Amino acid sequence: MLIVMRHGAPQQDIDRVVSTIEDMGYHARPMPGKQRTTVGLVGNDGRVDSSRLEALPGVQEIIHVTKPYKQVSREWKPESTVVRLPGGLTIGADDVIVMAGPCSVESERQILDAARAVRDAGATVLRAGAFKPRSSPYSFQGMGRAGLKLLARAREETGLLIVTEAMDAEGLDQVLEVADIVQIGARNMQNYSLLKHAGRARKPVLLKRGLSATISELLLSAEYILAEGNPDVVLCERGVRGFDTTTRNLFDLSAIPVVHGLSHLPIIADPSHGTGHRDMVIPMARAAVAAGADGLLVEVHPTPDRALSDGAQSLYPEQFERLMRETRIIVEVIGRRLAEPAGARA
Ligand code: PEP
Ligand code: MN
Repeated sequence: MLIVMRHGAPQQDIDRVVSTIEDMGYHARPMPGKQRTTVGLVGNDGRVDSSRLEALPGVQEIIHVTKPYKQVSREWKPESTVVRLPGGLTIGADDVIVMAGPCSVESERQILDAARAVRDAGATVLRAGAFKPRSSPYSFQGMGRAGLKLLARAREETGLLIVTEAMDAEGLDQVLEVADIVQIGARNMQNYSLLKHAGRARKPVLLKRGLSATISELLLSAEYILAEGNPDVVLCERGVRGFDTTTRNLFDLSAIPVVHGLSHLPIIADPSHGTGHRDMVIPMARAAVAAGADGLLVEVHPTPDRALSDGAQSLYPEQFERLMRETRIIVEVIGRRLAEPAGARA
């Protein structure tokens, strides 16, 4: 529920609303706005009797949030969230951000080659997992802490920001030492204790849609992170399990405008996991940006044929250059621009 205060309502009226909400056994979240202050009521599971609040001085209107998720909904916050990254990069404003790199960190040479290639083509964030959630316990599980160290080296060397996955609370603390953005992968989208931990972190979280998750479930998972106090969540459409094995997943492009309608959070697209085949990545990247995605997450490997994970969907560096060229054209046609590396900005 949202309690909208009158324009210019004095602080004592706002304080009174906050103390009444707490008296009723809920939590209050005052949100000062340009025109007026809104006080959010959280902690309820179902409709709240608002009669006590309606009668308070300074209260203009009460809005009942109709969705099961609250703080992530556009009803709660009509203006789009802009997630701010180090170096002045943003996600969710006009800029379209490209995060690219291999599926996994495999060696110093591999990650540095990948980082240079994606930076030279215009990416601003390096992606690569040090902790890998693999379907088989016998597949490469990632380099762990050593991989994180290599990611820190790659950032030092290239100036790229780092997005990398945390699979559990313990790994999250390690990832937080290095990452600029913490990735929570599809398989962990409903790992509620991990979501709560990420909600207490002070870094942006990239939350990927689960393999069989509805959009509503994705938004409820994001709600866990916001409810713990972290407002910086970026959603990611990466395809859901379909019935047709021609592609690895069913890349749900329509999720992009749907999420933009339901939520103020930014959403990026991952056409690599979405399709599973490198030849389909460029067309779907173009389509995702045209559909309004706030960014792309793309797998690129210096030698995809030798990749330890997801080689078939990893682009060769020259394919990634093409993706960037073609994406830039589409981004400009829809009145946006590609995010520039920190040094390139005026
Ligand atoms: C990844 O980004 O490499 C990954 C494991 O993705 P997902 O969680 O979407 O499968
Ligand atoms: Mn992968």
